[in-house]
Amino acid sequence: MALVPGLVARLTGAGFEVAVEPGAGLPALHPDDEYRAAGATVTSDAAAGAGALLGVQPPTEAQIKALTPGAVVVSFLPTAHELPLVARLRDANLSAFAMELVPRTSRAQSMDALSSQALVAGYRCALMAAERLPKFFPLLMTAAGTVAPAKVLVLGAGVAGLQAISTARRLGAVVRAYDVRAAAAEEVRSVGAEFIELDLPPLEGTGGYAREMTEDRAARQLELLAPHVAAADALITTAAVPGRRAPTLVTRAMVEGMKPGSVVIDMAAEQGGNVEGVVSGAEIVIGDARVWGGRNMASQMPAQASQLYSANVVNLVLHMASEGALTLDLDDDIVAGCCVTHDGKVRHAPTRELMP
Ligand code: NAD
Repeated sequence: MALVPGLVARLTGAGFEVAVEPGAGLPALHPDDEYRAAGATVTSDAAAGAGALLGVQPPTEAQIKALTPGAVVVSFLPTAHELPLVARLRDANLSAFAMELVPRTSRAQSMDALSSQALVAGYRCALMAAERLPKFFPLLMTAAGTVAPAKVLVLGAGVAGLQAISTARRLGAVVRAYDVRAAAAEEVRSVGAEFIELDLPPLEGTGGYAREMTEDRAARQLELLAPHVAAADALITTAAVPGRRAPTLVTRAMVEGMKPGSVVIDMAAEQGGNVEGVVSGAEIVIGDARVWGGRNMASQMPAQASQLYSANVVNLVLHMASEGALTLDLDDDIVAGCCVTHDGKVRHAPTRELMP
């Protein structure tokens, strides 16, 4: 949900009127009456004549038709996979902003939906691993003897991976983690896990992101990680390289090397997966391990995922607003960075290059 009732007042307080489609908040556990109580109108033609349409998913054709030219659209918009929709938004003369393109800068932190949703997904990954593993996560000292803690391995220690580590640690597991970025070692240690040092150079790209591996490095990394995978009770993978298919970090043979009862949670399954053979949204069995491929993980905690996403969207809208109106300053790096279409043109250069 792109606007929880608790944030309606921030928009009305800034001089905007807010209209919500009936039932729009229900998946995030907010009935229409909460929106009315917060000062919004609930109407089935909420998009009609609106100056801005806020959503999680990109707008539907009906919503695009209902908007007037020049209106602003804010949503997730995976442009590379939605080129016909980008063309439609351009031709409808809508100013479309993609939440995944908000720059990852300190100034834009409060608008960073990739981070807020990765946080939710990382937490869910750890809980799913704990729930599926037929073992305790914590060390237990009992009268009947000592129960050893579960060993959790996290590959990819960005926002989601660090949250998965913290959550598994809070449940008492012993956690080890690996990431190709040099800075990840300190970040991993700061949340209580052991960083796995591999005899490989770090892979840092621009903006603090990872770079794609060469085939040689990928093969060497697989080889060096294999014993760590075999030793883990639970494996959680969250590795991604922006704009690319998720890197394969774990082969089928490596999973086959895991102990009976082991579990694998691959959060990158929707981007092709970090684990060979994974299926997004389904659990499969490889060797003796149950392998779950993540799909839309954040939506499994809809209320809080929506609360955080709404705050990101409202912060972006208010960043673009002045005195109850949206004034698009395309010289501002945040506004320019996430602007996909404006004034009848595709403004986002990488998307423009992909347009037929
Ligand atoms: P992401 O979702 O793009 O990738 C997840 C992790 O996978 C990254 O840590 C990446 O290094 C790792 N990875 C990629 N290929 C790998 C491989 N082959 N093996 C192992 N690990 C691999 O990343 P993210 O969570 O969006 O964050 C990436 C970076 O951006 C981090 O440095 C984070 O601190 C930074 N960041 C900064 C801000 C900010 O300054 N506002 C906000 C969010 C994130």
